[in-house]
Amino acid sequence: MAARQVIVSGARPTGRLHLGNWHGALKNWVRLQQEHECFFFIADWHALTTSWEDPVGIEEATVEMVLDWLAVGLDPDRCTIFQQSAVKEHAELFLLLAMVTPVPWLERNPTYKEQREQLTDRDLSTLGFLGYPVLQAADVLMYRATAVPVGIDQAPHIELAREIARRFNHAYRPIFAEPQTLLTETPKILGTDGRKMSKSYDNAIYLTEPAADVDRKLSRMVTDPRRARRTDPGVPDDCPAYVSFHRIYCTSDELRWQEEGCRTAGIGCLECKKVTIRHVLAELAPIRARRESLTAADARAVLEAGNARARRVAAETMAEVRAAIGLP
Ligand code: SF4
Repeated sequence: MAARQVIVSGARPTGRLHLGNWHGALKNWVRLQQEHECFFFIADWHALTTSWEDPVGIEEATVEMVLDWLAVGLDPDRCTIFQQSAVKEHAELFLLLAMVTPVPWLERNPTYKEQREQLTDRDLSTLGFLGYPVLQAADVLMYRATAVPVGIDQAPHIELAREIARRFNHAYRPIFAEPQTLLTETPKILGTDGRKMSKSYDNAIYLTEPAADVDRKLSRMVTDPRRARRTDPGVPDDCPAYVSFHRIYCTSDELRWQEEGCRTAGIGCLECKKVTIRHVLAELAPIRARRESLTAADARAVLEAGNARARRVAAETMAEVRAAIGLP
């Protein structure tokens, strides 16, 4: 991306963040804030679309997450960090965009179908869940986003936001930019049990947990099952630790040594992992130190300032939107 873009992205309040979150989104955000105008928000209303029956802990999770954002290097002087529910204009824009959004556009959304099939323990037969891509459209169009960083699974939502913007612009007045999808190539981070790293699987390595815990978890992480004994050779590509961690953290010389040692059973798994663990700990040390220097009051102050800034932009957008429709 050459020109300065307006970037908007959010995340549901899930509390403490892990290495999957870091490599999946945050690292990219920290880079984007250097060159673009960025709005990063806690998507607490989005959390309700799938967890409306159990809203407990949103406030605490919000504070924890903002503290982790600050710890990894999101800088409130370079980006706007805010909480979705603190900017009520998002709800108004959601409502007005809902007026122009045909229901079949939402019903054909692939994640709508997938999640209804997968999350069978929840009641997702709600208008809120069906309409959450409209809320996402409101979130990004509000700030005239020109680019939205997403993983491939979220790309259809940005396409939908573009279609909604087009329909609104055509019906009333061309107010909204059509945001481009900024596809983020992210490495696949597996948890210590070899499944996708996730808090709910209890297999995550958190950004701010003590070094000894990170060391212990990674030391015990599953590897290629062929290496049941020290003398059994393995295949690095079939090793979750190799795929998720060695490849990301190790130098090319180290990788060569690990591959060779794995295939020939010249090294043991722990010996192999120790090299990677050293790099992971070195990356996490400054994040942990910064996190320890921050308090909940810091997170709240950042949110207060960010909310005020987001509200100013949102108020300007909504004044134009209302005028275009002919509303007071
Ligand atoms: S030696 Fe290294 S790459 Fe091979 S299975 Fe063990 S941890 Fe994985």
